Amino acid sequence: MTATSDLRLPARTDDGLATDRGPRAEGPPARPAGLDAGSPARTASPGGGAAGPASGEGEERYDIVGVGFGPSNMALAAACSEDPGAQHAVFFDAAEGPSWHEGMLLPDAGLQVSFAKDLVTFRNPTSSLSFLNFLVERGRIHDFFNRGSSAPLRVEFFAYLRWAAERLAEYVRYRHRVTAVQPQRSGETITGYRVTVEGPEGVSTVLARHVVVAAGLQPNVPEGLPEDERVLHTSRYLHRVEGLGEVRSAVVLGGGQSAAEVALDLRSRFPDARVHLVHSRFGIVPADSTPFANRIFDNTSIDRLYEAPEEVRERLGRIHANTNNSVVHESTIQALYDAWYADSWAGRERIVFHDASRIAGVEPSEDGLDVAVRNDLDGDVEHLRSDVLALGTGYRPLDLRALLGEDADLLARDAEGRVVAERDYSVRWQAPAEGRLVAVGITQHQHGVSATLLSNIALRAGEILASLTGERAGAAR
Ligand SMILES: Cc1cc2nc3c(=O)[nH]c(=O)nc-3n(C[C@H](O)[C@H](O)[C@H](O)COP(=O)(O)OP(=O)(O)OC[C@H]3O[C@@H](n4cnc5c(N)ncnc54)[C@H](O)[C@@H]3O)c2cc1C
Repeated sequence: MTATSDLRLPARTDDGLATDRGPRAEGPPARPAGLDAGSPARTASPGGGAAGPASGEGEERYDIVGVGFGPSNMALAAACSEDPGAQHAVFFDAAEGPSWHEGMLLPDAGLQVSFAKDLVTFRNPTSSLSFLNFLVERGRIHDFFNRGSSAPLRVEFFAYLRWAAERLAEYVRYRHRVTAVQPQRSGETITGYRVTVEGPEGVSTVLARHVVVAAGLQPNVPEGLPEDERVLHTSRYLHRVEGLGEVRSAVVLGGGQSAAEVALDLRSRFPDARVHLVHSRFGIVPADSTPFANRIFDNTSIDRLYEAPEEVRERLGRIHANTNNSVVHESTIQALYDAWYADSWAGRERIVFHDASRIAGVEPSEDGLDVAVRNDLDGDVEHLRSDVLALGTGYRPLDLRALLGEDADLLARDAEGRVVAERDYSVRWQAPAEGRLVAVGITQHQHGVSATLLSNIALRAGEILASLTGERAGAAR
């Protein structure tokens, strides 16, 4: 066995799936003042935006530089496009083009939130960038509402994001990976940031007054697993499953939404396969998407959580983790049970549930993977021969050190070593800072469970922009 002791998972094993349920739109978005993707270097801040930091020779200079162009920063770009202050902003994304969890875009998987939790509606219900406007432009509004669910399909939401990205194209440079963000100083005061970017044309730097990092969550891979193409995290599931060849036996690790979806997909994709679902709980735990629990995603709740004493926030976070972390939507639980029931009626066990269990080791061989599964109830260890091990082991927040390097030592941290952020999601520096570094998706410990989700992106983007420009957010709080 490659690993003889239990595989160690980082503390958080959530699936990154929200469960709040929850409305929106005309005319093209305002052209971002003074920004053309791939335009030559600019050194002036047009449209009355904030003055930039001291400029190096030939470096472009922006009011706002965004790291990543997933839904969080797309919502910010949408807010910029509708802002009369006309911020000079650019967003870099390492991907080839618009992307959103392609590895898990299973054809019938649904969003865990209402269509109204789109890029704009809660901030500006009259925005042309709403999901409703997308439906109208695509001629699908009747079909969508006749279906009777407020939650779009995941593939449908991704089509919406691609549609919105086209309308925000002037803000984004794809195939540009940000590799470093370096505070710039005047004396002790951080006045802005130099951002290093690797793109098709090589390495370049730009200067930013403010930086907004929304680089998403990182796949959580347990330690001690062999490097083997048959071991894959669910974030890469659809990229890899086609290349697996014939699967007769599969192991899926995890008790959250992704693990459940992958188990079901493997079962239907490989009719002769047996799928082992290994998870640490007794039963699959349903996501709490009931109305009172859903209030935890409201903006006013974020205010209250942020202001609350830390121990209260932690306690409530633990109680309501089941709105998102390591839980499964009720319809998916039903589908799992129905599949198991139909198989058992036919005298076959095609999904095997290993409750209260964990993986104790994995040994690859030519013949497949030998996966040792230990049951916590009786201590028994079972060896499963498997053609694939899919890790539905969730996601973890980005470590800002990857971008800041040693400057990360200047970040204020709490007793647990977590980065301390202001209510506007900007990190607190142990130095005076005029230029702000906003970090989205890493502050669940202060802003609550919505920090990593779609639930609040439109309002959050409005708040961030208002804060960076010194305005009051005019949002439907
Ligand atoms: C399968 C799945 C389904 C989900 N479904 C839901 C749901 O239904 N409801 C919900 O509320 N939440 C859901 N989530 C949670 C998810 O976090 C949000 O859907 C959303 O993707 C968050 O947007 P984001 O922009 O913060 O991050 P991401 O969508 O992860 O986008 C980050 C972007 O940053 C780019 N990037 C990363 N590093 C760099 C760098 N150094 N330089 C340049 N670019 C970089 C990436 O290419 C990517 O485009 C789901 C998550 C998963 C994994």
